Amino acid sequence: MDGPFTISVRDVYKRFPDGTLALEGVSAEVREAEFISLVGPSGCGKSTLLRILAGLEEVTSGAAMVGGFAPASPQARAEMAFVFQEPTLLPWRTVLYNIALPLELRGGGTKERLGRAREVLDLVGLSARAGAFPRALSGGMKMRVSIARALVTRPKILLMDEPFGALDELTRQRLNDELLALKQATGATVVFVTHNMFEAVYLSQRILVMTPHPGRIAEVLEVPVPYPRTPEFRASETYGKLVYRVLSVLEGDAKAASRTEVKA
Ligand code: ADP
Repeated sequence: MDGPFTISVRDVYKRFPDGTLALEGVSAEVREAEFISLVGPSGCGKSTLLRILAGLEEVTSGAAMVGGFAPASPQARAEMAFVFQEPTLLPWRTVLYNIALPLELRGGGTKERLGRAREVLDLVGLSARAGAFPRALSGGMKMRVSIARALVTRPKILLMDEPFGALDELTRQRLNDELLALKQATGATVVFVTHNMFEAVYLSQRILVMTPHPGRIAEVLEVPVPYPRTPEFRASETYGKLVYRVLSVLEGDAKAASRTEVKA
């Protein structure tokens, strides 16, 4: 598909059948090849918004568009992949065959499928484990396989729902760096859900900070630091100020947030 593949959300409301209002008047644009995070406390509607973009959930009112198409349309679905917190690998399949699964579901020759699965396995640094079964992998490795499986269809958009939430801090930080490298290598747009503001600041070009009940976008924050980000970024003043600003917005402390001016 040619042209910019942007995401737009206009005045979206989502009410579940039990009456819960999960999203109230949410509007946002995601630029092509951007890394954007949705940050907010549990229950503020981050997953609901991501699931709407994935075409897994309908809006109650308003509109969500992916590349000019409805999220559930075949055109939009063909360009997106979803990564969940649980790697959800099939235990009876090897790493390579787990990664090839999305291509199998789309049809195509075995040789090409396995060739592409090997390519993305190499991208996530797990070529040596192609023949392993999921039970033999660490949590971090399982998540790498899950990300490789998402990349195997060469999506323009990667939707990630707290993918590193279950990992220890060191593994999380390593995977943060790997994810940024993969984003650079593939040119994909990434929409990343997390409740971890440190992770959001480290990874993102922009952060949508959400407030709970019902979920609204309280602030859109730019991270004015170019890629590649390095671990030293975590020790910088800009990083500290950005984290503090997200925290202030989340705590509803508008005065503290406005005092924190962030410059590159
Ligand atoms: P987050 O991802 O920020 O933790 P969610 O999007 O999962 O938040 O949930 C937002 C709100 O919508 C919460 O109050 C949650 O309990 C509610 N919710 C989510 N899914 C459903 C559902 N299928 N039916 C009813 N309420 C739901």
